Amino acid sequence: MAEKDLVFGKTYKCPICDSSFKNLTVKQGKARMVSTDLDLKVNYRDIEPLKYDVILCPVCGYAALERYFDRVSVFQRKNIVEKISQSFHTVFEEKDEFTFEDALVRYKFALLSAQVKMSKHSEFGFICLKMGWLYRAWRVSLPVEEIKKKEELKAHENEFLSNAYNYFEVARAKEQSPICGMDELTFDTLLACLCVELKKYEEAKKYMGAIIQNRNATKRIKDKVFELKEIIYEDEE
Ligand SMILES: [Zn+2]
Repeated sequence: MAEKDLVFGKTYKCPICDSSFKNLTVKQGKARMVSTDLDLKVNYRDIEPLKYDVILCPVCGYAALERYFDRVSVFQRKNIVEKISQSFHTVFEEKDEFTFEDALVRYKFALLSAQVKMSKHSEFGFICLKMGWLYRAWRVSLPVEEIKKKEELKAHENEFLSNAYNYFEVARAKEQSPICGMDELTFDTLLACLCVELKKYEEAKKYMGAIIQNRNATKRIKDKVFELKEIIYEDEE
């Protein structure tokens, strides 16, 4: 199936400028899951759904992940108008699917809006995590001979995953569960996986310990911890 057949223009109303606009969104239940990476990134056949996770108002430039899009206080709205909308001139041509470049531009707008909103660490972390994963998906999509481009994308991937981890570490200490919609156990599992991906093994062990001691840990989650332990063990040999 073509990627453009798996998305549609969903109508949103901007909480900043009240404009109605269409935003490409993945059709529910259509994308087929094919695999999961070590750090829990899910991969789908024929589409990278992460490309469509940012909602961007083409009129005023406000952008956010769907979960956070409508959550704007009066103070934040005023800041967005003053610091983004008044100088926003970018024209986005209408598309029936996004390239990785298109998607990353949209994520950069989401980061900018989060900065102006002075969002919580978890929101920054979630944007950075998805950007890191997008760089990975882009890298994986390229043919093997594009060595240089792949290396460049890998560097961006590591940079964004590392930023995501740093934001999440603070969020875990300062914010109440659920964080980014994840309960404590799921969030710790994500952090443990991210640490292993980033080869931060001492930190990984700390989260793995917390997971094992959590009495809600299911067999599936304990198996994941075991898998991570094996990877660390083999790498430290
Ligand atoms: Zn707007």
